[in-house]
This record gives sequence, C-alpha cells and structure tokens, in this order.
Amino acid sequence: MITHCISRFAPSPTGWLHLGHAWSALQAHDLARAAGGEFLLRIEDIDTGRCRAEFVDGIFDDLRWLGLEWEGPVMVQSERFDVYRAALDQLIDRELVYRCWCTRSEIAASAGAPQGDEGPVYPGTCKGRTDPGGGRSYCWRLDGEKTGAPLLPQGDVVLARKDMPCSYHLSVTLDDAAQGVTDVVRGSDLSEATHVHRLLQAILDLPTPCYHHHALLAGPDGERLAKRHNAPTIKSLREAGTDPLRLIDGMRHGRFPFGFALMEA
Ligand code: GLU
Repeated sequence: MITHCISRFAPSPTGWLHLGHAWSALQAHDLARAAGGEFLLRIEDIDTGRCRAEFVDGIFDDLRWLGLEWEGPVMVQSERFDVYRAALDQLIDRELVYRCWCTRSEIAASAGAPQGDEGPVYPGTCKGRTDPGGGRSYCWRLDGEKTGAPLLPQGDVVLARKDMPCSYHLSVTLDDAAQGVTDVVRGSDLSEATHVHRLLQAILDLPTPCYHHHALLAGPDGERLAKRHNAPTIKSLREAGTDPLRLIDGMRHGRFPFGFALMEA
C-alpha cells in the first residue's frame, strides 16, 4: 500500500518565528511536496498564559511570505482540551498515570536527581503516594513501569500539567494522529521526546509516523539558535525588505543569512 505523505509544522505562538523555525517548516514542507503529499499547520497553544494572538497571526504572515503554504484547516490545540481530557481519563482509568504533587524546587532538590534534556529526571517520589492534603495541586505522570518503559531517559514524564488536562507530549501525540500525519519533521532537540510519543502511540493504539530529526541552526558563535535571545525573526527580515525567494532558495542549499549554519550532530 502506498501511503499518502502528510507532514506538519507545529509552532508554539510564544514569540515571533525565527530562522530556526523557518528551517524546520521548510524541511517539513519540502518533504511533503517532494512526495506529492500535504503540508499541514498546527498551532501549539496549550500554554495559554504564554501564547499571544499576534504571534499566531505572525506565523500565518511569515509562512505565507516564505511561500510555505499549508493545506486545509489549521488545527488549534487550545480548541481541543476536551479531546485531551478524554484521553487522559482513559489513562487514569487504566491506571497508567499517577498524581504528582511535587513542586519544581522539590524535584530539583531530590537527592541525586540526574539532569536530562528537559531538566532533572523525576525520581518517582509520588508514585504510590496518597494525597498529602491541603488541596495541593497535582500533575499526572506516566507510570513507566506499568507501561513497560521504566527506562525512558526522561523518567516518568508529565502527561497533564497542574493547570490543564494535557502536556506537550500528550497533545502532540493525539494531534499528529488526528491530523493523519505520516511524517513528523522536527529538530534534533526533540529526538528524546520521540521516545515518549512512540510509547504513547503504542498505549493509545495510534499509528506511529516516521520521524525525521533535522540538524539545528547555530549562530556565528556556535550557540544554538533556539537558545539565543536575539535570533533574527522572520518578521524583521520581512520588514527589512529581504527577498523571500532568495532566502528560501539559499536555505535549500545550506546558505543562511547572518553567519548562521547547521550544527554538527
Ligand atoms: N510546538 C513545538 C515547538 O514549537 C514543536 C512540536 C513538534 O514539532 O513536535 O517547539
């Protein structure tokens, strides 16, 4: 059976898109175009406190300016909390998640907590713990042992944050399936997250897409672009009169403005 290729770009509207986002969107776009497939867009705005409508508009404007047109309706995560809630309820019923009342500082202070890419690895403090009382808020964590994956490098990851029925891991997994995504193209900084997503797909009986992790961009000083606070935004290039065709064509040939370059893996 020949699968129709569907890729997606899934930015979070917490700021203006920068060159690293454009690079990522370009990879996903070109993969779908080369296969005669579809390139979809999803706005990952579960973090309603940090997301802003002007950044959503900026994503549309930037992608259109870059010539990276997407197909079909845009999926918006903040409209899908009911879907995430239903999946979380299923995981709770199946006892595959447990409540965790720990604060960030408690986790950081846990004896010998090793550091992972996403911060300290959670040492499982709340597993089997009863409600400490006092109305303390809690998140839900995946029980690695019960899901047959005690060795996830991140430990027991959060599937629902204290203030919402999901986390990045849960919503991204459900939404890639809901959009029929066959090929997830994203930065190598998310390659560890992919282990979590594959595991969730197995638990929730969802198809597993192909994952492609692309190299990240670094500035002239070698620092990873995503970590820079002064990364040039697409909006600023647009407003400075940059030719988007030249920019995109250059990027397709590995040439980036301002001395940016692909990082070695
Ligand atoms: N929303 C995530 C971000 O902006 C990307 C998620 C993904 O591609 O899986 O970093």
